[in-house]
Amino acid sequence: MNINRRAVITGIIAATIPFSAKAGTITDTDVIIIGAGFAGISAARQLKSSGIRAIILEARDRVGGRAFTDTQTLGRKFDQGPYWLHNKATNPLVPLARQLGTNLIDSSYSNLRVFDQGALYPDVSYGDVEAALEEWELGQTFALLKKDRSLGASLPNPTPVQKFVKNIFAIEMGEDPDLVSLQSYAALEAGEDLIPETGMGTLAQGLASGLDILLGCPVSTVVWDGAQGVTVKGNFGQLTGRKVIITVPTAVLAAGAIRFDPALPQATEAAISNLPMGAFEKHAMVLSEAVPDLPEYAMSNSNVQKGIYHVLMASPDKKMVTALLPGTISRDLYREGAPAIEAFTDSLLKDVIGSQVRVEARATSNWHGDPYALGSYSIPKVGHADARKIYAQPIEDRLFFTGEAIDDPLALTAGAAWRGGQKSAKTIAGLLGAERG
Ligand SMILES: Cc1cc2nc3c(=O)[nH]c(=O)nc-3n(C[C@H](O)[C@H](O)[C@H](O)COP(=O)(O)OP(=O)(O)OC[C@H]3O[C@@H](n4cnc5c(N)ncnc54)[C@H](O)[C@@H]3O)c2cc1C
Repeated sequence: MNINRRAVITGIIAATIPFSAKAGTITDTDVIIIGAGFAGISAARQLKSSGIRAIILEARDRVGGRAFTDTQTLGRKFDQGPYWLHNKATNPLVPLARQLGTNLIDSSYSNLRVFDQGALYPDVSYGDVEAALEEWELGQTFALLKKDRSLGASLPNPTPVQKFVKNIFAIEMGEDPDLVSLQSYAALEAGEDLIPETGMGTLAQGLASGLDILLGCPVSTVVWDGAQGVTVKGNFGQLTGRKVIITVPTAVLAAGAIRFDPALPQATEAAISNLPMGAFEKHAMVLSEAVPDLPEYAMSNSNVQKGIYHVLMASPDKKMVTALLPGTISRDLYREGAPAIEAFTDSLLKDVIGSQVRVEARATSNWHGDPYALGSYSIPKVGHADARKIYAQPIEDRLFFTGEAIDDPLALTAGAAWRGGQKSAKTIAGLLGAERG
């Protein structure tokens, strides 16, 4: 992988032959890409294949962004961020993963079981939950023609089985269903999922191979009104390009971590603030011994009935269980700290496998506390399902916002981030071609 530290940026810029546009401007590179997650990597690959020079500036000391396969903390693979390639039929990352030789494992909610006090709960089966989900979908046909409301409000007085449906919504969205726009949820595409055996972060790393990426380079300012195209500034100095692709998470933009000079158009600002991010976190527990009978996915009936959203997910070798904690439960536990997270996840584990197995080691993600993420993924506010479209409208053919927050059937996932980066790069290739004449 051709990844350089910021110390070498001057060298790179000096070595880069300035591109002379017809207008006579001198630039350091053709395209600056901010962020080396799936969107940034995809954009850079696309530009490279069109013969266009692009440099990625990445704030972290690694590539992948929210895709992070942690192999250090537990001495085994823990995908702190994405884990699945969603909807294998349309996900653009599936063929790319295969090209890299990644083994892809089938994963299905049909392997979901409900537990109560250490035993299988006989009153609710996966079939019951699936039937309730299908019934909900049928009931939304007309509701979707009306004014937007929250996903949670579409099940206002849930029956015990419908509470499981709400729990699945929360896991899919990484947020309380009451905070999710129903219209934006309905626009999403779902299907069979795959798990890359070596992890999603590892996949991102593999796809970044051979790209020009400067790590440890957080961008603090984007100046976009001069004749020179766009200049970005940060601890690395400054870099000028003809176009910039911005892939940083919407919550990072909303927090003002990057100053735009001049300010962004009001419509873009509004779209950013209408695309807040959920608080979806993972707590991994390595067990003292493998539990062969563990189902792939488990829910605790008593917690679901109390409206406490969660899923426990077993690793393929059944030696590790990861608690998925979306929205309020996650924000509350993280506010209280590590002992509260451990106590809660222990109680979930006890509900599923009883108390016969010890937890040997633990690791926890903290995306909503991470300054370069500030959340899990974008969730349009109720009444603002159109924010995704507005967000990705190019600004003066110079600023291109993209990433998982775009309007796409796989929105909020790595698949959408990939398609978004590619789309921006293709548009830019067309524009630069036309400008060069
Ligand atoms: C817990 C969790 C579970 C998830 N599960 C799944 C899943 O199973 N499947 C799936 O498809 N998706 C999942 N997702 C969503 C998935 O992670 C994202 O959709 C995808 O990784 C987003 O890619 P991106 O390139 O748009 O953004 P990012 O990966 O966030 O990339 C943006 C990059 O910008 C960098 N950056 C930020 N600020 C600056 C700055 N000022 N200057 C320079 N660089 C900056 C960041 O460090 C980051 O590397 C999950 C996310 C989380 C948090």
